[in-house]
Amino acid sequence: MPELPEVETIKRELEKKLLDKKIIGLKVNNPKVIKEPAPSEFKNQIINEKIKKITRRGKLLIIELKKDKFLIIHLRITGWLRYGKEETKARVLFKLSDGNFLNYMDSRLLGHLRLREAYKDLNFLKKLGPEIFELTAKQFKQMLKQKKGNIKALIMNQSFIAGVGNIYAQEALFLAKIDPRRTAPSLTVKEKDKLYKELKAVLAEAIEYRGSSVDSYRNLEGQAGGMEKRLKVYGKKNQPCPTCKKLLKKTTIAGRGTCFCPNCQK
Ligand SMILES: [Zn+2]
Repeated sequence: MPELPEVETIKRELEKKLLDKKIIGLKVNNPKVIKEPAPSEFKNQIINEKIKKITRRGKLLIIELKKDKFLIIHLRITGWLRYGKEETKARVLFKLSDGNFLNYMDSRLLGHLRLREAYKDLNFLKKLGPEIFELTAKQFKQMLKQKKGNIKALIMNQSFIAGVGNIYAQEALFLAKIDPRRTAPSLTVKEKDKLYKELKAVLAEAIEYRGSSVDSYRNLEGQAGGMEKRLKVYGKKNQPCPTCKKLLKKTTIAGRGTCFCPNCQK
């Protein structure tokens, strides 16, 4: 599932490829991913529109066509975008004025495409918390103060902070030397500061290396991200800890597999 760095990588690539180009055709191979309006209306409304701006909110991509028209792409679990030639496996294909296609791929059909006059009123967007980059350490600590429950589940909760999923939550907790089984109120001020710093650092590093390709995620040109090789604990059960060399353990937290080092993470 793409997290903030993967979606940010796609957003930056889309800016380079798509800005000021027109959508001159639309082919719908599977209408299930088009959530609104109805596919025929979706097509009528999008043809001949120029791509003016691309933004990201949490894990959501927003392509601004004009002041009151936005294409909202929610990749969710297996959705991704590919720019270039026509892809036979694409669910929806946008033909562009430069002769290329923007292919919306989604093996499990779980993503959503929407064409709307506004996007800020979407319920799941209203529920999104701030991104860690928008917060100061003081604000982050203030937000943590009011929370109970498990710390890893909390930083993955999109209404608490947006954009962090199962990969970067594990990585940040390892870097901050915090056991993922702990509760939010048990963290010391020093640990909260460290977690804030490491969350920011790991997301920034992952953006720099253009994301992690641990599942279906690929960049716009179909290449794997470079962050996967830099991950310290994610998916590394029974492998030596990069710090102390003892074997990493795996547990389940809020239904998600979680690797950690019981020796380094206290
Ligand atoms: Zn260790």
